[in-house]
Amino acid sequence: MKNQTSFYSSDSDSSVSLKFKVDALFDQQISHWNLAKQNYEALQTIESKTLNVLGFPMQVQFNPSRIVSSAAKVDPKSIQQRPCFLCEKNRPAEQEGILVHDQYWILVNPFPIFPKHLTIPFVEHVDQRIDGHFGDMLDLAKALPDFVLFYNGPQCGASAPDHLHFQAGNKGFLPLEINWSAWKHYAENVVELPNFTLLRHITYPHAMLVMESSERQPLISWFKNLYKQLDTNTNEVEPMLNLLCSWKNEQWTVWLFPRRLHRPTCYFADGTQQLLISPASVDLGGVFITPREEDFQKVTTTDLATIMDEVSITCDLLNRICHTLQKP
Ligand SMILES: [Zn+2]
Repeated sequence: MKNQTSFYSSDSDSSVSLKFKVDALFDQQISHWNLAKQNYEALQTIESKTLNVLGFPMQVQFNPSRIVSSAAKVDPKSIQQRPCFLCEKNRPAEQEGILVHDQYWILVNPFPIFPKHLTIPFVEHVDQRIDGHFGDMLDLAKALPDFVLFYNGPQCGASAPDHLHFQAGNKGFLPLEINWSAWKHYAENVVELPNFTLLRHITYPHAMLVMESSERQPLISWFKNLYKQLDTNTNEVEPMLNLLCSWKNEQWTVWLFPRRLHRPTCYFADGTQQLLISPASVDLGGVFITPREEDFQKVTTTDLATIMDEVSITCDLLNRICHTLQKP
């Protein structure tokens, strides 16, 4: 893993001023960019429903505009043939952004799931890899305390696997983030140190490891350990994973979902058996996106539990990883 130096100032004034800039960016984009205006307006009236998945209330959102992501072709040939929509030179003329420390652009995502949804691409067109950039995610979460940051691996839901980026959605929306203080009671400590805790959730429908700390460095070192443990398949460009991260009460919480599959069986099924659900961080955090109405209508609690179980690493592998991490 590469070295990761912090590029954000830690004083609270800079995060306050960033908050104002982000709010202003939303106002500007929603009033001046038709695509964003239409999709944010549509989001206010789209249907959603709650399904209880193994005791966890989760949302299903019928969101037609997300077909661009759920059905995205992410094979190398398709990726090579399209202009990268995260590169500055290819972005729509109406799309404005905030440049943070010459490293990342904060953009309004024109295909929202959250009432406030940001895309945060790196300034250069480099592959989507978390190695060397996990510290950036922590810094961005701290700089944007009203948002949950997320990272979708290149084979775990990122629709631009060729351009490094994070996304962020407003807090108070994702069931995992909203309910974490209650759901945490069903997690056990894997590692407990004075400045760092690693938890493993026992009953969540997908394998989930959670790191908490008020210090940046232990999170980076423990993420490095975890990454090494997960790095078992030499065919993958990086261990398959999704990450969510939030800064609250002067500490970070990082939820890590280790995976074994990009898309579940139902995604490839024929006819009425098919469910076009391609899970990424937001789905695993409790908001499942169905771009097609028929899927929204028919999807059941059992389907969601099966999808999460299929894409997750096995319980045995999670046990082995936790066991290794506990060794002194
Ligand atoms: Zn690009």
